Amino acid sequence: MEDSNKTNNTEQTSGESKSLNFIELIIEEDIRTEKYGKRVHTRFPPEPNGYLHIGHAKSICLNFGLAKKYGGKCNLRFDDTNPTKEDTEYVDSIKEDVKWLGFNWDGEYYASDYFETLYEYAVTLIKKGKAYVCDLTQEEIAATRGTVTTAGSVSPYAQRSVDENIDLFARMRAGEFIDGSKVLRARIDMASPNMLMRDPILYRILHAEHHRTGNAWCIYPMYDFAHGQCDSIEHITHSICTLEFEVHRPLYEWFIQELEIYAPQQIEFARLNINYTVMSKRKLLSLVQENVVNGWDDQRMPTICGLRRRGYTPESLQNFAEIISVAKRDNVIDVSLLEHCLREDLNKKAQRIMAVLQPIKLILTNYPEDKEELLDAVNNPEDATTGTRKVPFSRELYIDQDDFMEIPQHKFFRLSPGNEVRLKSAYIIRCVDVIKNSDGSIKELHCTYDENTRTGMPESNRKVKGTIHWVSAKHAVEFEARLYDKLFLPENPEMVAEGEDFRSNLNPDSLKIITPYAEPFIKNIAVGAIVQFERTGYFCVDIDSTPKQLILNKTVGLKGAWQKTGK
Ligand code: ATP
Ligand code: MG
Repeated sequence: MEDSNKTNNTEQTSGESKSLNFIELIIEEDIRTEKYGKRVHTRFPPEPNGYLHIGHAKSICLNFGLAKKYGGKCNLRFDDTNPTKEDTEYVDSIKEDVKWLGFNWDGEYYASDYFETLYEYAVTLIKKGKAYVCDLTQEEIAATRGTVTTAGSVSPYAQRSVDENIDLFARMRAGEFIDGSKVLRARIDMASPNMLMRDPILYRILHAEHHRTGNAWCIYPMYDFAHGQCDSIEHITHSICTLEFEVHRPLYEWFIQELEIYAPQQIEFARLNINYTVMSKRKLLSLVQENVVNGWDDQRMPTICGLRRRGYTPESLQNFAEIISVAKRDNVIDVSLLEHCLREDLNKKAQRIMAVLQPIKLILTNYPEDKEELLDAVNNPEDATTGTRKVPFSRELYIDQDDFMEIPQHKFFRLSPGNEVRLKSAYIIRCVDVIKNSDGSIKELHCTYDENTRTGMPESNRKVKGTIHWVSAKHAVEFEARLYDKLFLPENPEMVAEGEDFRSNLNPDSLKIITPYAEPFIKNIAVGAIVQFERTGYFCVDIDSTPKQLILNKTVGLKGAWQKTGK
């Protein structure tokens, strides 16, 4: 936000002017100069080694969004070059998440589809004298790579002849050697100031089954050797990645140049960081494996499936990605902005109902015992087309504990002894008595109602300062509500004392389960649907719900609960 890299260049979209971000500026210039004809072709390239998180959502919205904006295409490409960490479970979840976010890919590709081509590319480099088979161990390679200030030393195997290298590389592929005994390296410059250019590894031996190619291969390309070449094969125009790949760019370009193949352009932007959470598949995986959370789609996880289950909408995530735009320098986005985007969306869409989270009994002493009424309540004041519903009303009600104070504080306008308050969509009531249990706690409140003040009646215009929600006791539907708080206590969970790791920052109270009461309409809400509990917050029916036990997740409060000051 602070570092949005916006320029003064503006465009006109539906009457409002909006600045172009730095990537759009590059693309528009490339279109103007017809660098790639007038084509725009991006890709989203996840490694299927975990479930996607909100950082990936940012990248998805960016890549698919640019393709859409410029009438181009966007591929979904699985960067599946690490067989031991990858799985079709992850491939499936990634496809589901991209679709749910609202995007359709033009081509579905896999780096593994190109293994044969990549192998041929490697042979091309060998023939040009630009790659060699090296027998040094991983440790020896690391030890001879040098440091930032000192050059590395040339491998004793670097002088192998082209024929010998071709033969050895073919035998690596044929499975003659054990894991780790040989690698294929590029011959670039062991003294390069860029450590990644010091004869990087192109292929390693790994006798491991791949989730798509099975046992066809026992050598696998490294990320750097695969990624750019895949972009090239797919004729990607703008290969957008996160900042840590900036130092890889010379290598990306070196391969393309040496192979004399189609050249895409790599552009880096700052990865999305959000406070109070971690955003790395590896770390999220550890939370899942150690049962710190209940799976990848745990409602506290920053994964797309976790956010979805919590009640986030695709529109709220798209809008969030749009607002934060793209930055060239790392920054941390406040989670309250994400929540703000969610509230904005849900406010427009959510069905309102009344639910009492911490019930306290209230008896209307002058309301007939056997009387019941069905009162009209507005479904969504933001959308008149949604109309009204009937809410049952009777003599015994529940209200929320928070809405009553025996000795009211200054400016407390809700219920207190002798005071009047309006029951939402119902009557004005006055508290006449507070009945206590033997331990001094409140048993029930006795109130009187004014029968001429029902909402909608001419006299109902009588003003009282407070309005509170309620549920008719005899019609109340009990359900389970899961109240979530942030998963980590400090803003930056990665900052830890020596010897500890991010898990020491977990919030032990990130989940609280209660059994509140709601009006009967709650039974009509489908799994996955989101409602607003009047005056409380947004809740979403969880997939754990059964016909016998209704379960709702708290999606987000009505106001910035994590940061009451708001932004
Ligand atoms: P992680 O470290 O969480 O595993 P990754 O970068 O290794 O992330 P990939 O599957 O390789 O995950 O990422 C797919 C795409 O999503 C890449 O283009 C990557 O740059 C982008 N991406 C990943 N994390 C973020 C993030 N936090 N913000 C923006 N883009 C991201
Ligand atoms: Mg990765």
